[in-house]
Amino acid sequence: LWEITKQGMEFYSDFFDYAYPFDKYDQIFVPEFNAGAMENVGAVTHSERMVFRDPPTENQRSSRAMVILHEMAHMWFGNLVTMRWWNDLWLNESFAEYMAHLALDESTRFTTAWQAFNARKAWAYRQDQLVTTHPIAGQVADTDQTLLNFDGITYAKGAATIQQLVAVLGMDGFRDAMRGYFRRHAFGNTTLHEFLDALQTGAGDTGGAVGDLHQWARVWLETPSLNTLAASWEVDGDRLSRLAIAQTAPPEYPTLRPHQIEVALVRERGGRLEVEALPVHVEGAETEVPAAIGRPAPRLVVPNHNDHAFVKIALDPASLAFVRGNLQRIEDPLLRQLIWQALWNMVRDQQLRSTDYLDLAAAKIEGERDQELVETILGNVQAAIGRYLPDALRQERAHAVSEVAWRALQTAPTGDLQIIWARALIGLAISPPDIERVARLVDGELAVAGLAIDQEMRWAVAVLYVGYGLPGAQQRLAAERARDPSDRGQRALLRAEASVPDAAVKARAWERFLGEGYGSLHLTAAAMGGFHWWVQRELVAPYVERFFEAAPLVFEQKEKEFAQSFFGALFPSGRVEQAVLDRSERLLAEIGDGWPLLRRSLREANDDLARAIKCRAFAASGG
Ligand SMILES: [Zn+2]
Repeated sequence: LWEITKQGMEFYSDFFDYAYPFDKYDQIFVPEFNAGAMENVGAVTHSERMVFRDPPTENQRSSRAMVILHEMAHMWFGNLVTMRWWNDLWLNESFAEYMAHLALDESTRFTTAWQAFNARKAWAYRQDQLVTTHPIAGQVADTDQTLLNFDGITYAKGAATIQQLVAVLGMDGFRDAMRGYFRRHAFGNTTLHEFLDALQTGAGDTGGAVGDLHQWARVWLETPSLNTLAASWEVDGDRLSRLAIAQTAPPEYPTLRPHQIEVALVRERGGRLEVEALPVHVEGAETEVPAAIGRPAPRLVVPNHNDHAFVKIALDPASLAFVRGNLQRIEDPLLRQLIWQALWNMVRDQQLRSTDYLDLAAAKIEGERDQELVETILGNVQAAIGRYLPDALRQERAHAVSEVAWRALQTAPTGDLQIIWARALIGLAISPPDIERVARLVDGELAVAGLAIDQEMRWAVAVLYVGYGLPGAQQRLAAERARDPSDRGQRALLRAEASVPDAAVKARAWERFLGEGYGSLHLTAAAMGGFHWWVQRELVAPYVERFFEAAPLVFEQKEKEFAQSFFGALFPSGRVEQAVLDRSERLLAEIGDGWPLLRRSLREANDDLARAIKCRAFAASGG
């Protein structure tokens, strides 16, 4: 923490050419803090989650460093210069988000900052494809509406457009622009207009190749949704005879945008894969790339190499075929990550079956050594199993990936990868034999040299025992309680209490959620987290209807944070069924324009559910 704080201070003072403008800088870690962090002048408050209870992985340290650097960037952008009104809130957050990754990459020991940034973009890609998508910049009537917009678009898409702007302006132009901006507006208020003026001046210094930035801002900041790029290419002998990039947009949001990208041409050369990066300015529906003609023929073409742009990528058929056999041979981890992300987007768009994705992951992930990427893929694997796979296939598929994870755990080098694989095994344990096996792991009966079992893993297994009604569950809880009497232990116990597969327990828990609660929002939320189990679907079936009956009242009477926890934990999202979707749509129709927060939550949940239903049907249609 001290090291990152010091490195960040030096980096920002130098990059902005403006010394830290306040007298002191405190970082305060707050129990039960509702947000991630808040950038009060000279006294940032952080969630206690930032203080690790178990030995963290390097990925966790890197994410924490990113949050520290994000809040610190606000001392300049937000506090030294403040936006005039909430409608420019996005710029505050997007800027801090982009700068945090830049600072992470340039001033700290973390070398995977741009891979982490790419993983954050997944959040924005998802959000931007929901029915509730909105322009990055927009009209904000009041602070309630501001809260609704604290989302993946405000943070990650906005940051990605700044990244794209830097790709266009060049880093020197961007830095000069920011230096001018802070000199000129220190201790004052600005709007997007002044920010763009400053950038235009910076662009001027680098030759003014960008055109009118205000025009650029209109298509990027004032229209929602996103574009997909796909390469098409033809080969004549051993040379490329044509390369073109097609750009598409969803029918509801037909805007096409300019994109400054690099295209990776991947070739075989002496038993290795060689990557050539070709800069391309994409504009309009079809962009021909004459510079590619006559170059040695590639085996694989990937638009958006180095991830400069905010676009989805669809792989062409020849490239997809090559990737199936050779993805693991690509040396650049960010390029591998971009391809994995393209595959995941294809699953979400029903262009690739979830079962296909799981086969690919099972075949490739064991050989993957990049931790950032292993975690990203495992996260998507678990999402695919939980949401995009027919119920009948879930346990079998989860077990198959578990087998891979066991082998990977045995052979992983001592350290982070072991922790990542062990956590994945616990997450993938959705059948009694797999749960009993992870129990033997945390009990030390199945020892893996060098792996340190931590308290979070122990709690997770104990709660699994409760949820699945396995023998010895209560003894496990008692043992963990003795080991960990902390507030974390208290929350785990409440989660376990609500997890017991018994109708009377569920009835009592439900009554308490809506009544007196469990003492604090965080304690009540912990108990709510134990209510729904896929394996208890019959038992909790009555609470589908009760949820939709209770929701309007909860959103009317309780505070926003409670209502959001209630919705997040108790909306029956695990039941990927048309009947649930229909019931939810009915409530949406009933509430009309009332309850804006409930309305937004329902629309997003329904959208996710509709997508999951389609993905399951698509997976089930496969041979
Ligand atoms: Zn922020």
